[in-house]
Amino acid sequence: MWQGRKYLFARKKPAPVLHLLTGQVVRVMRDPYPYLQSDEARISMTIRGEEERFLQTLEEGQRILDEVIKKAAAKNERRISGEDIFRLYDTYGFPGELTVEIAGEHQLGVDEEGFQSLLEAQRARAKKASKIADAIFVATETNPKLQQLLPSEFLGYQGLDAEGQVLFAEIQGNEGWVVLDKTPFYGEKGGQVGDKGILSWNGGEAEVLDTQVKNKLVMHRIRILKGHIRESDKVLARVDVNLRDSTRRHHTATHLLQAALRQVLGSHVRQLGSLVSPDKLRFDFSHPSPLKDNEIREVEDFVNKAVLLNLEVKTDIKSFEESQKAGALAFFGEKYEDEVRILNVGNGLSVELCRGTHVSKTGDIGAFFITSESSIASGTRRIEAVAGMAALDYLRSVRQKLEGAAGLLKVSPDEILERIDKLQQKIKTLEKGGAAKGPVVDVDSLIKTAVTLSGLNAVVHELKDADLSSLRSLSDQVRTKLKGESVCALFSVSDGAVSFVVTSSTVRIDAGALTKKIAALLEGSGGGKKDFAQGGSKNTGKVDAAKKQIPQLLQEFLAQPARK
Ligand SMILES: [Zn+2]
Repeated sequence: MWQGRKYLFARKKPAPVLHLLTGQVVRVMRDPYPYLQSDEARISMTIRGEEERFLQTLEEGQRILDEVIKKAAAKNERRISGEDIFRLYDTYGFPGELTVEIAGEHQLGVDEEGFQSLLEAQRARAKKASKIADAIFVATETNPKLQQLLPSEFLGYQGLDAEGQVLFAEIQGNEGWVVLDKTPFYGEKGGQVGDKGILSWNGGEAEVLDTQVKNKLVMHRIRILKGHIRESDKVLARVDVNLRDSTRRHHTATHLLQAALRQVLGSHVRQLGSLVSPDKLRFDFSHPSPLKDNEIREVEDFVNKAVLLNLEVKTDIKSFEESQKAGALAFFGEKYEDEVRILNVGNGLSVELCRGTHVSKTGDIGAFFITSESSIASGTRRIEAVAGMAALDYLRSVRQKLEGAAGLLKVSPDEILERIDKLQQKIKTLEKGGAAKGPVVDVDSLIKTAVTLSGLNAVVHELKDADLSSLRSLSDQVRTKLKGESVCALFSVSDGAVSFVVTSSTVRIDAGALTKKIAALLEGSGGGKKDFAQGGSKNTGKVDAAKKQIPQLLQEFLAQPARK
């Protein structure tokens, strides 16, 4: 803890230092542990990440503690409350001893009793919240009967159902744990989750909710559906085929993923952790920077191509030494037994030590997609991916979101990007020069520009960068506000084209006919009804001439007898 103290009183934010010792430690230890040397960079990176997280915790805790101390001083209190110490410990992971020490330096005591009782209460809550069965699991760890049992024989590489005998059963109510002498159920290890399924026996049946391994014993967490289970009962153990199939697809895919990452990013990629479940896989590995889009694509291609080649997945059982000579990737930190299983995908494409369950041909994996790539610590990346039916589900959910977005934007999914791009540009323009835009133009000042021709009020105006709908709404407002007979013609040049609208409140002027004439002057097109029409042209150079021509056009219309 003295290290923490030193950091706390450093003025600047301290830099991590422990990882600097990695090289020295590796040199000292490399004789008994030769693989340390090839792993030095990753070990150093992991230590650094841990220390950074610890420093972060200290920094945040210190900030909170400073506030607590200030408050205590302001209220003239002599000690820090149990609640505050607990909050620092529970929420921010700030060590209790450190709080006591720092408080002491500020001549403050601590309510240690209060802290302890809160801690107790929390433990009790946690215990109550966890399932009864989990509590039994903890209790059985020290059960002498359990410790005398021989390791369970795992039959799950060969098949998914097997007969076994109950060696141990601890049931409370209808939940508990059982150990069988032989079982096809895979107990959680090496990142692969435990199997689920059914145990059945003469007069009874139980659901297996989870499978764990404790001291080489495979422990089935069960919920009894019917009957009672007793030690020495013979049971038929059946693993849920669908779940196991999905899990093994993800497991073999994880091995291919590692091979792909080493191929695409380099051989510095090392597995730092993994999770293999029926619905997804998670793979943590050493790499200094986020993956680029093309790297993600290449990794996906690598795995999917291996799937399409329908390569053989083989298992060899060898001594650990032999396996290392053969170049199998061992997972650092894992304890290996004398005999190890070497999983070989595609005759050397991926060779790893692994006790998990796998598909027999890569084609069984099905489609493979990376669903996320992120950082979990400095130098450590995390990839989540899906395979098989889970990949299909993932694509379906993406499609559904895409269709939802297309529906909201009122376009086809193919046009979404184009549409969003346009909307973003529109927002940008509005934010930049909103005041110059059509809809925000002051209608009254527009009306003031009206000229009178034979008792008719005419507004002719050009707006900056307004779209057709802005022109339309503005001309509507002018028509409503302008007294008497009126005509309004509004123009706007934007994106290399001119748009215009014409409104008329009098039968003496046909907006549609006037629009056609204006369109002709602009060498464009247009038309509409008697009271409203619109047009446009690519010929932006003729707008001024057209505008000047409008009074003349109006005179011509007024000279004709009114049309109904
Ligand atoms: Zn594996």
